[in-house]
Amino acid sequence: MTATGSGCYTGEIHSWLQKVFVYADYLSKQRLFTRNCPVCNSAKNTFYANNDHLDYCRCSTCSLVFMNPSIKYDAIQDGFKGADELLMEYFAIAAKHRRPHESHPPDPMTDNKLLDVFKIKQTGRLLDIGCSFGDFLHKAKHFYEVEGVEVNPFTASIAAREFTIHHDFLSKLNLGKRYDIVTLHQILYGIPDPPSLFRDINEILVDDGIIYVNTPNSDSYAMQLYRGKSNHLYGYTSQNVFNRNSLKQLAELTGFRIRSFRTEWLDIYLTDLMHYLDHEAEFVHKKNAGIEGYDEKIRAEEELQRKLGHDLGNRGNYLVAVLEKK
Ligand SMILES: [Zn+2]
Repeated sequence: MTATGSGCYTGEIHSWLQKVFVYADYLSKQRLFTRNCPVCNSAKNTFYANNDHLDYCRCSTCSLVFMNPSIKYDAIQDGFKGADELLMEYFAIAAKHRRPHESHPPDPMTDNKLLDVFKIKQTGRLLDIGCSFGDFLHKAKHFYEVEGVEVNPFTASIAAREFTIHHDFLSKLNLGKRYDIVTLHQILYGIPDPPSLFRDINEILVDDGIIYVNTPNSDSYAMQLYRGKSNHLYGYTSQNVFNRNSLKQLAELTGFRIRSFRTEWLDIYLTDLMHYLDHEAEFVHKKNAGIEGYDEKIRAEEELQRKLGHDLGNRGNYLVAVLEKK
């Protein structure tokens, strides 16, 4: 089957993204509002990139890359709660292509999603905020007492078949207990007001509690190369792209400090790069499903990159950090 086959995940996501781009274009013509940096509140920023529809700026003080001017906050929050039909369509595609869970426990010292937390805490109560279908909870349950927070009714209902899921925004929940670990997998980029979220997390963490963050990295080679065409900026859902410095700033403002920091995934493939240089207008970073044998080519490049083992330093496309209370 080619990458454009009807049952192919990349093909379906590519088609879905075309609708996302149309909607982003519609949003760009609505009333947007100019804002200060959502982390440090600085009014000083410079243009960073346009994703064909919306502009992103870089804060001159903390270096956060953020959508500016932005969409109304209420619209964003309602979108997470299921009002956004495109988001619901994405979850339907993701649900269809989910792989079954491994029944045996992963090795927490080599598992990419677990090792950063496990090095610091081997037991305790863990809350995964924005847990989606509960895929991380399935891994973490072997080591921790796990619960999730999820506002989207569709994904929350699937996760709730096996786990305790709190179905609202953290700020609206009264959990009545404290946690040792809070995890944020790919949600920080879409949060309109990150300091509020982190202050709320501070309240529910024990004194030696930790936050795990996995989120797009604005210092990556891939963002420098693709800018507005980077996967971190496509569509309209990215509010914030952090780097080490802006994350440090967020931590300091909300009572935390960085305990560990690394980055992962180069996310640059020759298959993509050649297409970008020849057809920039239709290029979709990591989702160029129209290229013959696309998924196989990307998989082969991924394998090669793994073997080469380049040290990405702070330049991987995602940052992975653990924060602790000050
Ligand atoms: Zn800032």
